[in-house]
Amino acid sequence: MRVFFIGFGQAGGKIVDMFIGQDKRMQTQNFRGIAVNTARTDLMGLKNIELKDRLLIGQTVVKGHGVGTDNVTGARVTADEIDAIINAIDSRGTHDVDAFVIIAGLGGGTGSGGSPVLARHLKRIYREPVYAIGILPAPEEGRLYSYNAARSLSTLVNEADNTFIFDNSAWKNEGESVKDAYNRLNDEIVRRFGVLFRAGEVGKAGVGEMVVDSSEVINTLRGGGISTVGYAISEKVSPRTKQNQGLFSGLMRKKEKTEEVLTGEDKSAKIIALVRRAMLGRLTLPCDYSTAERGLVLLAGPPDEMDRKGVEKSKSWVEENIAGVEVRGGDYPVQSDYVAAVVVLATIGDAPRITDLLEIAKATKEDVIKSKEKRSTMFDDGIEPLFE
Ligand code: GDP
Repeated sequence: MRVFFIGFGQAGGKIVDMFIGQDKRMQTQNFRGIAVNTARTDLMGLKNIELKDRLLIGQTVVKGHGVGTDNVTGARVTADEIDAIINAIDSRGTHDVDAFVIIAGLGGGTGSGGSPVLARHLKRIYREPVYAIGILPAPEEGRLYSYNAARSLSTLVNEADNTFIFDNSAWKNEGESVKDAYNRLNDEIVRRFGVLFRAGEVGKAGVGEMVVDSSEVINTLRGGGISTVGYAISEKVSPRTKQNQGLFSGLMRKKEKTEEVLTGEDKSAKIIALVRRAMLGRLTLPCDYSTAERGLVLLAGPPDEMDRKGVEKSKSWVEENIAGVEVRGGDYPVQSDYVAAVVVLATIGDAPRITDLLEIAKATKEDVIKSKEKRSTMFDDGIEPLFE
């Protein structure tokens, strides 16, 4: 599908920059993207997004220095300058776009506050769906980040057509700081969503065994709410033996035939195993996959490795394991030595990590109110001020 990415804030900008980089490396034109930020230095650090597609907002308020962790200011500045953002998107071209995807770290200020505002306006203006990829902060980043993320996400789920969650804390390694992990985590995000958002595009490697087009991605995400994505990659695929046309061709034919039959079954089995690994492995938001309303199974790899039966069986397996009965799927060939499986578990009903985040946010809000009350009563001890 053709996706228009908007990277909001530091995290969002970096990740969109990587999607554009992937598109350049693969010499495809599936992705288009801009970066929006209140901090000039963050925008300067990008590599692949063209300079004219990097938009600095809020200059009169924060003078290019960013809004810090103040997501209320992030939201306000975005609302004030929404016309400039929409103009930047329009001037990049939207006529052939299948979906908009806003990417942001939800714990900070600019992306956290700006994303829901932008989602609302994009939905008003365009007919195409508006999705978000929201990154959750690790608890070690502090309660303010969790509070910001809870507020942003609660707003975003009502504005975007569907919100994919990536949980930083679930993906960083033991003992590793979140900051040290950024590059690796971003790579994980771009790999998964790269496969998903390329669905339905015909590349150099031809069309799939079981073609999946962008409307299937869109229908999977129609239920709204939050979604999670699983991913697995195969071992390096060994090149298949070429038809022997030489001296031994007559002798070899029978053996080759039996091998082909075996390879056929083997291919399905490999695909099913890969899809299982994708769904049962670490999800972008670890959660109870059995509460998902819809599913999408996508396979991408060398044409020789694609297998209709394997996809069909994998779909049935996913369907048996989720709450809903709608599971879509298909494959598309890419020139690669590996097969990748992506499983989208859409509209998740229960995610303990989100429940925890909302709890932390509630407790933080109460503490903030209490400390404000304390502050306001501290000088209520009868001493008269110099003047009123
Ligand atoms: P903003 O610029 O004000 O929107 O805020 P940031 O994007 O800097 O940070 C918001 C959240 O995103 C925090 O929880 C950060 O830990 C997280 N974050 C920042 N940069 C990255 C990144 O490159 N990758 C990932 N995965 N998370 C990031």
